[in-house]
This record gives sequence, structure tokens and C-alpha cells, in this order.
Amino acid sequence: MRLLEDLFKSLVVALVVAVLTPVVVAVGSRAATGDWTAWFRSVPWWVWTIACALMIAWVAALLVKRRKARLRQTSGPLIGIVSTPLYGWVEVGRIPYQRVIWVVRLPAPPPWGWSPEEAPGGAGDVDVSTPPRCPLCGTELEESRSFWWGYNWNCVSCGFSKRNRESFYTEVYRVERLARRDLEVHMQARRSQAR
Ligand SMILES: [Zn+2]
Repeated sequence: MRLLEDLFKSLVVALVVAVLTPVVVAVGSRAATGDWTAWFRSVPWWVWTIACALMIAWVAALLVKRRKARLRQTSGPLIGIVSTPLYGWVEVGRIPYQRVIWVVRLPAPPPWGWSPEEAPGGAGDVDVSTPPRCPLCGTELEESRSFWWGYNWNCVSCGFSKRNRESFYTEVYRVERLARRDLEVHMQARRSQAR
């Protein structure tokens, strides 16, 4: 019974049944009577209507179920190792990416220490904070999954909103790459100046 239950829950099976039923009826009809549509006509129209309605309801129910299952998954940040540096963070720049603003930061130096650009870990220490900021007013954005596709990013302050294929927590790694590259260029320029 388990197999039957799984088959019933499979969207592919639902679609195949929907497509194959009329084909099988037509082929069977042709083989038995020599007429493609004889079997269709021998069944009252309301039987076909109900069959179609059931088919559509089946596929629709499966689609909504899948969608809901996906919405439940992976909303919010992945739980990772979050380490805060000893002296906190210091903002070193802002990068626009995907039409929103991302704050780039480096570990803050100790009070007696180096300037942030001379961080001992170099550009490898760079961090981009989530959530990103509204490009219009600078408020931290909120993210929610959109029903059909991707994510909605909204500003609670000014009403800015946009849709994005990926979540904050995926995009942030791309912004980190950009930030590391920028910082490497910047640090190299400083070093060659100092020489
Ligand atoms: Zn805003």
C-alpha cells in the first residue's frame, strides 16, 4: 500500500495519468471499434467532466502541497559558527549588490592596535553583515519567501520592496567575494604607497 500511496503523491504520476488517460482511451477505442472517438462518445459527458475536475484537483493539491513544504524549509539564516571578534566589528565600506546595500566590516583593532586596513588576517577577515540595507533609506531589510518564486525583500520604513531569486544568506557569500577583492586592491595600494 505504501507504494500506491507514494504513486498517488507523485506529481509526475499525476501528470502522466492526466495525459495518458485520453490517449489510452483513444487507442483502445480505435483498436476495438476502428473509430478513435467511439469510446469517448459511449461515456456520458458528465463522467468526463467529473474525471477532468478530479484530475485538476489532484494536480493542484499536489502543487500546493509541494509549495508549502518548500516554504517551510530553509527560511532564515543557516545555523553556522558565528564568531564575534574580540573587539567587535568596524564598518569599512558599503557595497551595492542586487540593488540593495551591503555593509562590509572588519574585526575592530584593539584600542592600542593597528588601523582596520592593517588587520592581521588581511582581506580574509572581511565580513558582510546580514540583513542588507534599504538603498533608499538605509534601514535593515526584511526577507520572506514568495509563494511562487524566490524571496521578497521589504523595507519597513519606506516601503521599498524587491524580489530576488536567492536569499540574503546565499547572496551574502557573493558580496563577501566582491568585498575581499576590493579590500585586496585597497591594501595593495596602501602597501605600495608605504614603500
Ligand atoms: Zn527604506
